[in-house]
Amino acid sequence: METKNIGLEVSRPKKACEDDNCPFHGTLKCRGRVFTGTVISGRMQKTVNVEWEWQNYLRKYERYEKRRSRVKAHNPSCINANEGDIVKIMECRPLSKTKGFVVVEVLGREKGFEQRMEAEEASKVKKEAKKPEEGKDSPQKSREDIEE
Ligand SMILES: [Zn+2]
Repeated sequence: METKNIGLEVSRPKKACEDDNCPFHGTLKCRGRVFTGTVISGRMQKTVNVEWEWQNYLRKYERYEKRRSRVKAHNPSCINANEGDIVKIMECRPLSKTKGFVVVEVLGREKGFEQRMEAEEASKVKKEAKKPEEGKDSPQKSREDIEE
């Protein structure tokens, strides 16, 4: 099968695929913005969640703040990016309500990806654990009041 030139300097996938929404083997055209990010969720069928960090300059404070962007991107089976992969994504026509990008290249693995995800999970759990405790306090007290 012929592998198309997508108009971007990327290493072409070695495998072929039958996906019509593949920029290399299908009819999908890529245009617009190109980003490099990490796959943070690859559990969906042929869709990955890609996240990257960028800096936003705040003129008032003359400093940069860290910002994160997350988009869904189509994952053709010839590329088959997994969680923790650093990928290059390119804008294409909207493929679904929330999907308007396609993975065009896997650049490698993010170092310490598992640790980063674990740390983020841990901080989430802490935040969630705090809330119910605060909520529990008041009903327990009132129950004690009734018993007394
Ligand atoms: Zn393909």
